[in-house]
Amino acid sequence: EVRVRFAPSPTGYLHVGGARTALFNYYFAKKNNGKFILRIEDTDKKRLKEDSISQILSSMKWLGMDWDEGPEIGGEYGPYFQSERINLYTDEIKKLLNEGKAYYCFCTEDDIEKEREEQRKNKLPYRYSGKCSHLSKEEVERNLKIGKPYVIRIKMPRDGSTEIEDLIRGKVVVDNTQLDDYIIMKSNGIPTYNFACVIDDYAMKISHVIRAEEHLSNTPKQILTYKALGYEVPKFAHLPMILAPDRSKLSKRHGATSVEEFKENGYLPETLVNYLTLLGWSPGGNEEIFSMEETIEKFSLDKVTKTAAIYDTKKLSWMNGQYLTRSDLEYIAKEALPYLVEDGLIESNDIEEKYEYIKRVVDIVREKVKLLPEISDASSYFFKDIDEYEEKGVKKRFTKDGVVKILERGKEALKNAPNFNVDTVEKVYRDLIDELGIKGGDIIHPTRLAISGRTVGPSLFDIISVLGKETCIKRMDKAID
Ligand code: GLU
Repeated sequence: EVRVRFAPSPTGYLHVGGARTALFNYYFAKKNNGKFILRIEDTDKKRLKEDSISQILSSMKWLGMDWDEGPEIGGEYGPYFQSERINLYTDEIKKLLNEGKAYYCFCTEDDIEKEREEQRKNKLPYRYSGKCSHLSKEEVERNLKIGKPYVIRIKMPRDGSTEIEDLIRGKVVVDNTQLDDYIIMKSNGIPTYNFACVIDDYAMKISHVIRAEEHLSNTPKQILTYKALGYEVPKFAHLPMILAPDRSKLSKRHGATSVEEFKENGYLPETLVNYLTLLGWSPGGNEEIFSMEETIEKFSLDKVTKTAAIYDTKKLSWMNGQYLTRSDLEYIAKEALPYLVEDGLIESNDIEEKYEYIKRVVDIVREKVKLLPEISDASSYFFKDIDEYEEKGVKKRFTKDGVVKILERGKEALKNAPNFNVDTVEKVYRDLIDELGIKGGDIIHPTRLAISGRTVGPSLFDIISVLGKETCIKRMDKAID
């Protein structure tokens, strides 16, 4: 059975990198009728951030990644918080100690620093010498008795090599001399990431470990740890890095990077999901807009790229515009509502009564915007009077010879229109244009300015139709004055 996990450390918000990792695990599970497990790696109390867990969970839900086992819902292999699994780790550590595969290390920081100095002289990267693995039983007992602080290290082989059969990168071979007897339990009794991760992935019957490339260097240590414990080794897949357009590491200065921020800035979850999916994966072909369901259907790890993916916010905002336009109107209107209320365009109490009107407005303005809050700005004149005309429009449109006359005629024509359907008002205007022998723009531009106060926006006839007769006539009158 396919069982995969996303294992965030709650050190802050869910970031784009983490969200992408979670998504690929989710797709892989769904595609293979497997289970998607969420595990919180919260043993490092120093790095924990308050609220982080609830933020991560709410971002996961917002993106639509429901987990099959994990926080809030539990499951057969819980608990799903590492902080609640400490006993399990200590049991396994005891076993390794008894088998002589792990040992107490009493080296102080000073001792380690001395080794470091020594190895630096020989231009070697630091690796623990293994000194304490040679302590006699009695020495260990004596040290423990007098309460000497210690860590526990696991013995790693000193020769040979370790192979990773990575499902994305192919075979990766690491020389074991690169590794050292790494710490599996810190002096405070808490296990380290590499160790707890192995114990949990095994205990939770994880079949595939799909995670970011930055963890590739941990994988040999973990594989050797599985072997020391006599566990079966899962399959591994390391996802390509996500870099900024200048190929530097993604950071704050490249704009929003947490899922929470995107939500606040007015992106739709569908956009973010679609965008993140393309960071290192593509279904082939030219189509770039697809839903989660479509991705699941086509998803496979062998289509994941080895090369770094470039994170480009321009494309992200283009994509959001696509989703605003293509999605179900009801949904977009609902998402836009809070912004309309916040900007004072509509009272909460009036929403129900004006809902059909709101939907028509959203429908015609959404094609021109990229973010949800922009819907509010683009539609303000549908909800309140125009208090000023766009300046450059006034110079260009309202000062032309004969413009007052033209607007008068436009107003008359609208007054006499049999109805205010888009097609009808368009016909009324086209007939008038013919009759007057003017260019379309001669009347369309000043009318737009008169009824919207702006020089750009949705099609004029859409605006007229939605605003309705009374408002249009009133605004034309005011402009003519
Ligand atoms: N807690 C680790 C992280 O957040 C998990 C790494 C892994 O997937 O093994 O990076």
